[in-house]
Amino acid sequence: MRILVTGAAGFLGSHLCERLLNEGHSVVGMDNFITGSPENLAHLANNPHFEFIRHDVANFIFVPGKVDAVLHFASPASPNPSSPYGYTNLPIQTMKAGALGTHNTLGVARAHNARYLLASTSEIYGDPLEHPQKETYWGHVDPIGIRSVYDEAKRFAEALTMAYHRYHGIDTRIVRIFNTYGPRMRLDDGRVVPNFIQQALRGEPLTVYGDGSQTRSFCYVDDLIEGIYRLLMSDEHLPVNIGNPAEITILEFAETINRLVGNKGGIIMKQHSRLGDDPQRRRPDITRAKEILKWQPTISLEEGIMRTIPYFKKKMGLE
Ligand code: NAD
Ligand code: UDP
Repeated sequence: MRILVTGAAGFLGSHLCERLLNEGHSVVGMDNFITGSPENLAHLANNPHFEFIRHDVANFIFVPGKVDAVLHFASPASPNPSSPYGYTNLPIQTMKAGALGTHNTLGVARAHNARYLLASTSEIYGDPLEHPQKETYWGHVDPIGIRSVYDEAKRFAEALTMAYHRYHGIDTRIVRIFNTYGPRMRLDDGRVVPNFIQQALRGEPLTVYGDGSQTRSFCYVDDLIEGIYRLLMSDEHLPVNIGNPAEITILEFAETINRLVGNKGGIIMKQHSRLGDDPQRRRPDITRAKEILKWQPTISLEEGIMRTIPYFKKKMGLE
């Protein structure tokens, strides 16, 4: 297939491009570098099956030649307002990537009669009242809260994807991605994994926001990409959760990182740094992924973190 990947220069997009090329497909990457970096694609520059178009997906998209599949991953993804790359500091761009970007990429899929895959998120469940979250849960989202620019754009994107499927018969898929980590995360995007690993490598205390009792379930990037590839190759049109159901409090997570890095800097509780709308609990129910895709994560948190640390060390100039 010849596959368009938007958000190709980002963390997940770059891993996805690599995987698609390894499977023998041709890839057209698209990105405007608002939160991503050309460095993430540098190793693909000489690959004859990889092309790159610098473009903002909020504007009309033209891709010359055939397109067999469109994977829409372009969107800022970090909620942290202390980073310039956090979506609360890019509110209009985030809404445009999720709304206009989804409309334009669905338009490409329609024009080329291509299959389509939307990168949605566990954030569409908001601060969930149902636990763990099944795909049938409608969510608990504040439409004007601090995270709403991201959550509501993704909810709109899901609705538009289903509209194109139902009305135009487009062969669509929706993946609801839960917290994923690994090499090529932006060091300064403020998400918890880059923050904690860098603090630990510097011997500093880890900044736990709130009382650290909020939970997350962290999936290593290779597991996630495997699940997404299986979904792309499936015929499933309804949303599928992909994530690791191993749930951990943020405080336990900080202790784990300190142990794995050997950091003696400890932990500092930042009671007032917790972002408004920060979900208290998050864990995917992956029954559907197991049944439909025969997929489940295989990489433990400790193993995934150990695979991620060398990337951060290198980027920080520590080796
Ligand atoms: P990222 O910031 O590393 O990558 C996003 C990429 O999209 C960047 O390269 C950025 O420059 C690009 N982009 C943003 N707006 C654009 C626009 N208007 N036009 C063209 N390119 C644009 O983030 P990520 O973690 O790789 O997230 C990728 C996708 O996966 C996002 O859609 C995000 O919502 C979704 N997701 C990620 C996670 C996670 O844990 N990483 C969880 C849920 C959903
Ligand atoms: N968090 C934290 N310290 C940090 C960064 C984040 O305690 O330095 C917390 C944050 O409040 C949230 C969790 O870690 O409860 C995950 O945050 P992240 O920004 O990675 O993404 P989210 O899962 O909230 O979308």
